[in-house]
Amino acid sequence: MGVPKRKVAHARQMDRRSHHALTLPQLVECPHCHEQKLPHRVCPACGWYNGRQAVVLKTPGAEGGDKA
Ligand SMILES: [Zn+2]
Repeated sequence: MGVPKRKVAHARQMDRRSHHALTLPQLVECPHCHEQKLPHRVCPACGWYNGRQAVVLKTPGAEGGDKA
């Protein structure tokens, strides 16, 4: 079993973790259905992209309907 060679002091441990913060994804409003979506992605709510229906969803019109 591996054994640490030296104790990591609390300050050093927290210094290392100072870069671990996560950021929320940037969201934009879909121009078609006004849901929040990732930029440069097909809207998951309505399948709209670049001013046209890019993807036909399996459950059209369903609010927040995932699989099943
Ligand atoms: Zn949309």
